[in-house]
Amino acid sequence: MIINEIFLSVQGEGIYTGVPSVFVRVAGCNLNCPWCDSAYAKSDESGTEISNSSLLEQIQEYNVEHVVITGGEPTIYAEELKDLCGKLNSLRKKITIETNSTIYVDCNPHLLSLSPKLYQGWDEDILKKNLSKNCDIQIKIVVDSIEEAVDALKRIEKFNIEKEKIFLMPNAVTRDKHIRGAAWLVPFCCKNNVRFGGRLQTLLWNSEKGK
Ligand code: SF4
Repeated sequence: MIINEIFLSVQGEGIYTGVPSVFVRVAGCNLNCPWCDSAYAKSDESGTEISNSSLLEQIQEYNVEHVVITGGEPTIYAEELKDLCGKLNSLRKKITIETNSTIYVDCNPHLLSLSPKLYQGWDEDILKKNLSKNCDIQIKIVVDSIEEAVDALKRIEKFNIEKEKIFLMPNAVTRDKHIRGAAWLVPFCCKNNVRFGGRLQTLLWNSEKGK
């Protein structure tokens, strides 16, 4: 896989927020969201090819159980991702794969963290396949207005997902924008009984690379 960065931090989003984790960020993505919070990893020229055996060595240097494979978009490296996942499973690591859910990969993470984009590459068939996987699932949808939040809820209603596993997240790459987004999204979430998804990495580090 072409890797943009490997670093240790705490998970900033979703059910494992605050859990120390090694982040493996691949370089390259099949989408081009204008508000990407990891734009520095969107191009596959933004990284270096690293073999899975070398990745495993680097991951094991950190004494933590959780490994988050993120991007960019990890599923564009389907075969390598499958292989890495199998190897990390044998080491009893708890793997989270963060994906935009446009590509299905037959692998077994502990948590599949789906972040389909409302207006970029939304694919109901792939989403359905991913949601039926035999692993923990969470779904995080970035929204930028009440209309988008309403649209997000309408789109996922049909999938019958447990409420606690759905997060609406503010579109925010900066701390200020996160605070402004939370100001309308938290009341929306309370009114509609849906989980608000904060972004700790944005609040703490302003989405700085490597944190
Ligand atoms: S799918 Fe994710 S990594 Fe790719 S452009 Fe969109 S926000 Fe960025």
